[in-house]
Amino acid sequence: MVKIIKKFIPKGQTNQRPGSYMDPEYITVHNTANTNKGANAEMHSRYLLNGAGGRVVGWHFTVDDSEIYQHLPLDEHGWHAGDGGNGTGNRKSIGIEICENSDGDFGKAVSNAVWLIQKLMKDHNIGINHVVTHKHWSGKHCPRRLLDQWHGFKKRLENSKKANSKKKTSKNPQTSAYTGSSIVDYLNSINVDSSFNNRKKLAKQYGISNYKGTAKQNLELLNKMRKGTKPKSVKKGNMKTTSIVDYLKSIGVDSSFSNRKKLAAKHGIKNYRGTASQNTQLLNKMR
Ligand SMILES: [Zn+2]
Repeated sequence: MVKIIKKFIPKGQTNQRPGSYMDPEYITVHNTANTNKGANAEMHSRYLLNGAGGRVVGWHFTVDDSEIYQHLPLDEHGWHAGDGGNGTGNRKSIGIEICENSDGDFGKAVSNAVWLIQKLMKDHNIGINHVVTHKHWSGKHCPRRLLDQWHGFKKRLENSKKANSKKKTSKNPQTSAYTGSSIVDYLNSINVDSSFNNRKKLAKQYGISNYKGTAKQNLELLNKMRKGTKPKSVKKGNMKTTSIVDYLKSIGVDSSFSNRKKLAAKHGIKNYRGTASQNTQLLNKMR
């Protein structure tokens, strides 16, 4: 558990906070390449808040050896991947800078980043293959201190992910003392799996269709769970069909190509083109 300090760049400061919607599908890792003393997360927060020296740049988190600053909300994209105005790196990824200030403990900062990334992977249902380097998008030599140990870094993420998935899922939610407005904190407080996947399941049970984890849907789910609105019985869907389209229709999910493409990406199927084998793969994963 590392302290996350939310200090969002003001909305009007569009060179650092473009403000357009993002549904994050990737996590992009950077190093600050700033070894100056004091170049920690707080300093980078000030840098962004002060207009980044006139540069068009913005990212979501900066992590140092003791704390994490969040500069942008996670449903807005930043400019950090160097792959252009419509690049997937910029438009679909959460940008994380890891500090390398000479008066900090780089190893500890990396451990803190591992903690943050696991949490984001879980909260946003992002798979290990979608945790990438800045270099992946633009070829830039970044994160410069991690590129030669990238495999090991990802292994650490996977190990912690396994540890997390062992968490017990309680089937009988209890009343909670938690009074805040975060569904994740609420679920944690009643000892229920708060991962994206489980929230999606819960959302369906509580009649919230097409759950994408938006702030609005999370709040709706939280309110329904608090009120104890009785969950509808879960539709199992058509278990006989071999057609993904028919299956999606049977569970009331949009079966258009573009939605199947999204679902495929969420289930780790790359380059979805709607081929028969991809459709079968998607069907099996969804069932
Ligand atoms: Zn970078």
